[in-house]
Amino acid sequence: MKLSGEALAGEQKTGINPPVIKKVAEELKDIHDMGVQIAIVCGGGNMWRGETGEQMGMERVQADYIGMLGTVMNALALQDSLESLDVPTRVETSIEMRQIAEPYIRRKAVRHLEKNRIVIFAAGTGSPYFSTDTTAALRAAEIGAEAILMAKNGVDGIYSADPNKDANAVKFDELTHMDIIDKGLNVMDTTASSLSMENNIPLVVFNLNQPGNIKKVVLGENIGTTVRG
Ligand code: UDP
Repeated sequence: MKLSGEALAGEQKTGINPPVIKKVAEELKDIHDMGVQIAIVCGGGNMWRGETGEQMGMERVQADYIGMLGTVMNALALQDSLESLDVPTRVETSIEMRQIAEPYIRRKAVRHLEKNRIVIFAAGTGSPYFSTDTTAALRAAEIGAEAILMAKNGVDGIYSADPNKDANAVKFDELTHMDIIDKGLNVMDTTASSLSMENNIPLVVFNLNQPGNIKKVVLGENIGTTVRG
């Protein structure tokens, strides 16, 4: 599951909001209790975006490293919430910081999943110029995930235009990864879409703000937009 930084920030859209994270953690616990293996990629947009830093005059690579560190803060907050609910977790970072988390090792991540631990991937891909959406597509391919769940804040799927700005925006129930690239739909960046397409990983875009939605998606209910092929 890709959890954007905004999903952890709540109304104020920046920083970390523990009660908001707790709600997400409770939903994750529900599906963890069903025996579902869960890996999460944390975004960091609530903390910092490299692009914004660049627009304000910073060097892009440096700004992106700050962004990646932001995702680690989110991952630790989510780990805290999950563990307060007695859900075993491991954080794995793509940039080594051994005092607070394990370095990302694919085999270890898979082993944790087999042992029913929720694995939280942090620090993106470890490389600047990428996004945490691309990280989600990459890690999903590496660990053999059955699907990527893209949890959105307040939007219940993929629309032909921004539903908050365009009254004629139409929601899609199903799409292909190529549709997203061709139509230039604002779902994930092109690198993430092409990686998901090449590795044939389905993507489900859904609204995280509706309680119980993660479980519905896991049980196969079509509440958002499913992207295949
Ligand atoms: N980032 C990066 N490389 C990666 C993943 C993330 O440089 O592989 C940086 C980038 O600056 C990005 C920031 O981390 O703006 C936060 O990630 P993202 O914008 O994907 O978070 P989200 O929007 O999902 O909260």
